[in-house]
Amino acid sequence: MSQPLPLPSLHASHAGTWLRDANGATRGCSKGEAVMAAADTPLLLMNAPLVASRLGYPDLSGLDLLELFAFIHPAKFCVPTPKGLAHALGLEEPTDDAGVPLLLQQAAGALVATCESDDWAEREGAWSSLQSLSRLRWPWANVLAPHVKKPEKAEKWLFTRLPEWEETPERPQPAQVLIEEPQIEAHLERLTGEGAEKREGQRLYARGAGHVFGPRDRQKRPHVLLAQAGTGIGKTLGYLAPASLWAAQSGGTVWVSTYTKNLQRQLRRESARAWPATRPDGSPPVVVRKGRENYLCLLNLEDALQGGFAGRPAILAHLVARWAAYSQDGDMIGGDLPGWLGTLFRKRGIAALTDQRGECVYAGCPHYRKCFIERSARNAAQADLVIANHALVMVNAARGRDLASRPTRIVFDEGHHVFDAADSTFSAALTGQEAIELRRWIIGPERNSRGRRRGLAARLADVASYDEAGGDAVEAAIGAAEALPSDGWLGRLAEAAPSGPLEELLGQVRAVTYARDESGQEAGYGIETETSQLPGELVEAAGTAAQALAQIRQPLLKLAGRLEAVLEDAPDWLDGQGRARIEGARHSLAWRIDLIAAWEALLSRLGGPADPEFVDWLAVDRNDAREFDVGLYRHWLDPMKPFAKVVLEPAHGVMLTSATLTDRDESGADWEHAIAKSGTPHLDLLPKTAQADSPFDYAGRAEVLIVTDIKRGDIPALAGAYARLIEASDGGVLGLFTAIRRMRAVYGRIADRLARAGLPLYAQHVDPIDTGTLTDIFRDDARASLLGTDALRDGVDVPGRSLRCVVMESVPWPRPTILHRARRAAAAEEAGGAQRYDDRIIRARLAQAFGRLIRSKDDAGHFVVLSPAFPSRLLSAFPEGTPVHRVTLDEALKRVERGIGAGEAETGAAREEAADSDI
Ligand code: SF4
Repeated sequence: MSQPLPLPSLHASHAGTWLRDANGATRGCSKGEAVMAAADTPLLLMNAPLVASRLGYPDLSGLDLLELFAFIHPAKFCVPTPKGLAHALGLEEPTDDAGVPLLLQQAAGALVATCESDDWAEREGAWSSLQSLSRLRWPWANVLAPHVKKPEKAEKWLFTRLPEWEETPERPQPAQVLIEEPQIEAHLERLTGEGAEKREGQRLYARGAGHVFGPRDRQKRPHVLLAQAGTGIGKTLGYLAPASLWAAQSGGTVWVSTYTKNLQRQLRRESARAWPATRPDGSPPVVVRKGRENYLCLLNLEDALQGGFAGRPAILAHLVARWAAYSQDGDMIGGDLPGWLGTLFRKRGIAALTDQRGECVYAGCPHYRKCFIERSARNAAQADLVIANHALVMVNAARGRDLASRPTRIVFDEGHHVFDAADSTFSAALTGQEAIELRRWIIGPERNSRGRRRGLAARLADVASYDEAGGDAVEAAIGAAEALPSDGWLGRLAEAAPSGPLEELLGQVRAVTYARDESGQEAGYGIETETSQLPGELVEAAGTAAQALAQIRQPLLKLAGRLEAVLEDAPDWLDGQGRARIEGARHSLAWRIDLIAAWEALLSRLGGPADPEFVDWLAVDRNDAREFDVGLYRHWLDPMKPFAKVVLEPAHGVMLTSATLTDRDESGADWEHAIAKSGTPHLDLLPKTAQADSPFDYAGRAEVLIVTDIKRGDIPALAGAYARLIEASDGGVLGLFTAIRRMRAVYGRIADRLARAGLPLYAQHVDPIDTGTLTDIFRDDARASLLGTDALRDGVDVPGRSLRCVVMESVPWPRPTILHRARRAAAAEEAGGAQRYDDRIIRARLAQAFGRLIRSKDDAGHFVVLSPAFPSRLLSAFPEGTPVHRVTLDEALKRVERGIGAGEAETGAAREEAADSDI
């Protein structure tokens, strides 16, 4: 057992502040005293930004245990709380806040002792890294230096240590095979394991899923299945069974697409039943594939390590380099890089280490053969199963680098989100931020900026010097791109001093949006206006901006043509790597050309008749009264139309599945609407449908409480209700809000009170912690509660006691945006009209939020909505048989405190009675 490190330590929570001196006496102290102590000498603490926010002193720094953990155990999971750290290190967890300073000393002692141990698995690279961190004055460097032995042999530098990927031959087309139902059932039985209980719903579901893997009869006519699977039927293995059979027999790849990272993690786990970790040749049959902006770019990292980053961000770069050497796949967002690492460094350091802006130089990069992104793309092309997200599948279908890597057999799990994903994938936004990115991509970074980012001329220097016409096109594009906004554009807009045609247009957009704003109390948040009745000056500015964009697009088109010519008539110096680089450049050029064409189309409509297929608007994006973007937006009225064309039509088999694929009104599941929303009508296809109901006992394990005496808009009453509900259930509450403003107000009023009762409260957008980590913290502590907004409504998967009560602040009405208004108006013509359109959205949100509560058959809990007016027609959002009670807050508190199963439960008929009597 190691000794505690004899350094003073500090802990601050909402309940108070504690200091422990080096010799071992812990005492409570004031915030001011803690700040003074931290300024005097570096203190041991945990999560400095969080402690700083608790103390109200943003400049706080010290010896952060999380940074030390990231250095000693890169790529190892740790919940960033005292309890989580204790678990990760095998120490006893503190029983209360006052015990935390001692734990910090013990944890520091244990981590320092690890450096001396022969068993330290992550020793390689540590000594060299520590020398660099010492030069950067990392507070831990001096503490660690005496304990990290200098290696006898020089350590391998990260960039030599990482393995190279292998070039692989193109895969042949998948064989045409038919998977028979008995085969599927037998395989499912193998996957679920000997002796597992046979679930009829799952078997039916798996047989249905097999349908999408059959050979296609006609071109552009994929097999499509819409399958609704209630929570708990085991849908993942249900579709993996036929998918793995098909992949094995046909030699093809199945893509499973999810909306949340949680499900990706779960799929990775479950796929281990159907596939081994590696094939005999060492390649992985299952690959998680994400957008390139998720992965570490080694060239950016090298640049950051060699002076591109300074101060704290440089320390982050070294900790990331430690991680990169041990990471499974280089995924920085939701992979094995701790989600909390980036937030310790406050700035956008993590994003700057990824390839956010498509500036990759492909084979021109010295790390190309070790690049995580390239490795993942190559692995995916050879995989049996690719786990991806909806946006990436759609982008890949639309502009995958080569036809062979485009998905043709796709399972969209969390299929209820396909519409939203298509909505954002197939939209266009001509905003200042987007336009300045294009400028940087073409011209390069502006003066004074650090980093390796280079423009088109530098990236294609060799082609430009070899091919004169190509060189001229690059020059012309650079000249034309001067018309795009440059650094400081937002400031110039605010001062009515725009520079260039695009800034001129954005200035007009901003002025018109403000002139028409009537949002009143929403001041400080985003505002928008429609594109009808626009003033002449704006329409004129749009015309000039469109011409300027065309001037950029034309030379880019010419350049694309020249690159193609160079590839066709390849010069001697063009080796395989050079070819790959030019192909990469062509691909990113094509993407930019399409983007600019979409912007031109958007501008050409302004001032003319509206196109009924699209919804256009102008917007100023603001956060807390600070503007961060201005621009024009275009969305499809029905984004499933381009989805059908781009994703469905070329595919052979597509399945959309979810627990909430259909809306359920009083008359039952609405399949007609689910089919209409699937995109299939745009191909004149009638999809197959299937339904397997949840085996969970909702009637006995859950209760919906509609609290009728909290007035809408009464923040003190709302905050009081949240605090009392959290106390009544002794924590374990997930609080869902539709507005960040109200959530912050509630949090500010109740966090201290709850902390004093030993009930920690965390909140999205308040605590300086990313959402994934907040969920980990919540899951790890059965007395913790978590407040949040949309992302938590279906991103949280917390089975067991940690989540036993969900509280919604009100009925989740849709925000009356321009886009919503347009779709609502279009729906007014359909059966049920505009109200039904809104009801469907609300019921879907309620169903998703309710879905957080019961994740396994042993879960039980309350779902509380604080709403004096909750229309009965929305009650069908909850699973059939779930008891619903309209009650006062006091009655709700009694029920929550008593727990489920202790009192009488109203069932089906009683629920209707209760509902009808109140509305
Ligand atoms: S190949 Fe591209 S993404 Fe990969 S390390 Fe090099 S520049 Fe970064």
